[in-house]
Amino acid sequence: MTPVFEITARDSQSQARAGKLTTPHGVVNTPAFMPVGTQGTVKTLSIEELKACGIEILLSNVYHLSLRPGQKVLEAAGGLHCFMAWEGPILTDSGGFQVFSLASLRTINDEGVIFSSHLDGAVHRLTPEKVIEFQRAIGSDILMPLDECVRYPCERPEAERAVARTTGWAKRSRESFMKVISSPEGARDPLRDFSAAPRPRNDEMKDGVRPLLFGIVQGATYPDLRQEALERLLPMGFDGFALGGFSVGEPRGLLFELLPETASRLPAEKPRYLMGMGEPLDLVEAAACGVDLFDCVIPTRHGRNGLAYTWEGRLNLRHAAFETDPKPVDPACECWACRTYSRMYIRHLLKSDEMLGLRLLSFHNVWFYGRLMAMIRLGVTRNQLTGLRERLANLYQPRLEEAFP
Ligand SMILES: [Zn+2]
Repeated sequence: MTPVFEITARDSQSQARAGKLTTPHGVVNTPAFMPVGTQGTVKTLSIEELKACGIEILLSNVYHLSLRPGQKVLEAAGGLHCFMAWEGPILTDSGGFQVFSLASLRTINDEGVIFSSHLDGAVHRLTPEKVIEFQRAIGSDILMPLDECVRYPCERPEAERAVARTTGWAKRSRESFMKVISSPEGARDPLRDFSAAPRPRNDEMKDGVRPLLFGIVQGATYPDLRQEALERLLPMGFDGFALGGFSVGEPRGLLFELLPETASRLPAEKPRYLMGMGEPLDLVEAAACGVDLFDCVIPTRHGRNGLAYTWEGRLNLRHAAFETDPKPVDPACECWACRTYSRMYIRHLLKSDEMLGLRLLSFHNVWFYGRLMAMIRLGVTRNQLTGLRERLANLYQPRLEEAFP
């Protein structure tokens, strides 16, 4: 049987590794970046454009999808892949983060959470079991269990309470996951039940590849608490591990103080996912700590705000300096936005609130991220990651207030 995760190369100067993660909808080359498709769409981009950017896996979200369009619609479509016409792997976030940040939270106890939707105020209840059942019903490839995500700064007693609750929920999630994938209904591959559904795209896919469930290691900024959380998750038999509770407002310096040790303690043979972090320099530095999967809204959200990620650093295309600049957004980039349009034209589109401007910069940024991840993988394979780390450190120096707020 195909191994779930195979490490194909290691960097000799760091903990970075390159690998292949096998899911029911194909293989993902790691380290990989997952653009965020919260509502079943990566904002402004088509599936064809995402593929052109070299994107192999998308992230979507239980919180948003369960509120709208809801399970009934997604099941009628034959699952999320068919609904959004994406044939590749999808990781679904459990919604814990959104419940704690977006919704107006009514109650949280060991049973689950009760919250009011940010859309219409309707009251909903999420339990670890419901979250797993929903992800399975929509055909997710990598499922995440419900977790309690705390903010920075977080006092120790609160962090301890969140770890205890997240661990209890993880155990129930794992039990529920085993139940749904072993039942005849749950084992059914939604792709086989709908003749109009896209076929799996990868020849390497073999029968017997089942969805994966990751455990989420919380513990805020307390290394011993993160260690304790991990030790409690390990015996449960997760397919991979996510580091949660980072990128929640902590200083960048603190994150990179904690990350090397936290990541190195995760089982070496399983995929590691750092949730929610994604400046270019962060990606290469976290990959150097041995992280395999990333997701972030940055390339599309910042693209919509006029910010371009380039091999010259960040450029704010709204700036007056670009008013008569005929160069492409990034002269070193081969994406169609850069091959076709000038900085001055895109600046004009942005200033005029024209949708094409948002689309072009979102596309260019996701392309940049796709290329960046390919370069990280190549850097690991050829043992040349150090050069890329230095190049990005020069281009994307963290702003002082990010490093030492
Ligand atoms: Zn470009």
